[in-house]
This record gives sequence, C-alpha cells and structure tokens, in this order.
Amino acid sequence: MTKSPLTLHLAAPRGFCAGVDRAIKIVEIAIEKWGAPVYVRHEIVHNKYVVDGLRAKGAVFVEELDECPPDRPVIFSAHGVPKSVPQAAEAREMVYVDATCPLVSKVHIEAARHSEAGLQMVMIGHEGHPETVGTMGQLPEGEVLLVETADDVAHLTPRDPDRLAFVTQTTLSVDDTADVVAALKARFPAIVGPHKEDICYATTNRQEAVKAMAPDCDAILVVGAPNSSNSKRLVEVGARAGCKYSQLVQRADDIDWRALDGIRSVGITAGASAPEILIDEVIGAFRDRYDVTVNKVVTAEENVEFKVPRVLRMPA
Ligand code: SF4
Repeated sequence: MTKSPLTLHLAAPRGFCAGVDRAIKIVEIAIEKWGAPVYVRHEIVHNKYVVDGLRAKGAVFVEELDECPPDRPVIFSAHGVPKSVPQAAEAREMVYVDATCPLVSKVHIEAARHSEAGLQMVMIGHEGHPETVGTMGQLPEGEVLLVETADDVAHLTPRDPDRLAFVTQTTLSVDDTADVVAALKARFPAIVGPHKEDICYATTNRQEAVKAMAPDCDAILVVGAPNSSNSKRLVEVGARAGCKYSQLVQRADDIDWRALDGIRSVGITAGASAPEILIDEVIGAFRDRYDVTVNKVVTAEENVEFKVPRVLRMPA
C-alpha cells in the first residue's frame, strides 16, 4: 500500500532543558555515589519515562520528606521546594541534595530580596504546582499573594498598594504572563519586578518555535506529561497560533490517528522534561503510516549547561 505524503515540522529547540538535564544527572550520580536506594522528594522532573528509568536504577520517589528514612540521601526535585523542606532535612540530620533548577533558585532569591526590602510579593503562577508552592514557600505563609490570570489582579488586597513586587513561575505562557504583568502595572504602578518576567530561556524558546511552525501545521503534537506545566503551555501556544488540532501525547501510543485523518502536515515538539527517545518514537510512528518528509523549524540555538552541586563532584 502506498503511504500518503506528510510533512513533519520538527521544532527546535524542543525537549530537555539544562535544568532537567542537571536534575536527572544529580539522581544518577547520587545513586552511583551512595548506592541505592536514594530518595527523591516529588517526581524529579514531570515525565513518567524518566521517573520509571531512575526508579529502575534505584531511586525511590516520595511526596513528603517524612516518607524518607533519615539514614538515606534525599534529593529535592527541579521544581524547587519551600524553605521548610531543607530545614526539616537538616533537623533530621539527613544528607540532601537540592536539584532545584538554578533559574528557579534565582526567582527564590529575588522574592527573598524584595521581601527584605519591605515589599509584599505577588507571584504569577499556577496554584498547587510544585514550583509555585516552592517559590511561595521561600517566605512566611500568607506573605505571597498568588495570581493566575489578569482577571485575578482586580481581586488582590495588598497591605500597601505602593509597596509591591512580583515574580513569576518559570514555565508560564509568555503571552498570558505579559497580560497579567500589564494588569498588575495598571493597577499598581509602583510594583517592582524583573525586566520582563521570570519565564526561563527554555520555556520561551520552545514557545517561539511552536509559534513559528503553527501556521504551517494541520496538527501539532506536544510530547510531554499532563502534569508538565511547560508542555501544557506549548499545546495552548500551538492552538492560539492558529493550529486547529494541538494535543499533548505522552508516547506514540497516545496518538489519536483517527483525529489526524487527512492531514498533510504535523508539527512535533516536546516539553522541557520529555526525553528525545520519546520524540523519536512518535516520529517513528508517523514514518510507519506516512511517507514522511522532515522539515526542521529552528528558531534558536541553546548551549546552556548547569553544573551538578559540588557534593556530587567530589569523590565518595
Ligand atoms: S524549564 Fe526552565 S526553569 Fe524549568 S528546569 Fe528547565 S531551564 Fe529550569
């Protein structure tokens, strides 16, 4: 049977970012250094394939610190943790390694600095996401006001409207966040914040690549996990940039082939926590069904790399 032709637009950059790469290395090196089991508080990055792979090597994933025995090392996930978590680990005299992405730590430092200067913090982020919980948890409970949308800004009741600063989650939609920042600045002209927002280079670059390819795509598939914030934002960016069918898939098995019936072009990208092997799997599934021509859509080159913490660079 002859296969129908299909142009596959492959976004670049896509997939792993420097923070995810570092967090995975931290778990692997910790297992080599201290032996299994090594405990990890929360999924080290939001991807089942990655988590299952590390579990097979000896990582044990838990949600809270008190699920870890005090005599085994524990690693905190790339999303960051409230200040109370390392404090509790120290109180229990546990060995811990913080895999918080340095770009998230930078936001933690910003929040603390503004608070020390006497400004009340507003965080733009998704309620309940571990990164939001971690960043808000850098300051005492109730000190940080959370907003998710521009509409939320109208309901804020700060202590002093002239003494405010804002930070953002690193994995938000660039365009939505610009709207929230504009609403904050309109209501609180004295609010202090980062030059643009705290959205990281990886989130920004992946969204730009999707915007560039979306007008040429009958469908966009984002390889990523349902709990991955930046992956979900890529799906939204694809839809908003004009692609009628923009979907998240964890693996090739999730592709709804019936929904793709009759398409001539598909764009593929991946969230920052999705490994390239899963993207290859999806491309392979298209090659099995179509006569595929690959078109790389390159909108940025990335060469960011983060070192693992010093404790893992020293001999055991
Ligand atoms: S998405 Fe951005 S902030 Fe999150 S781990 Fe990757 S580089 Fe760090």
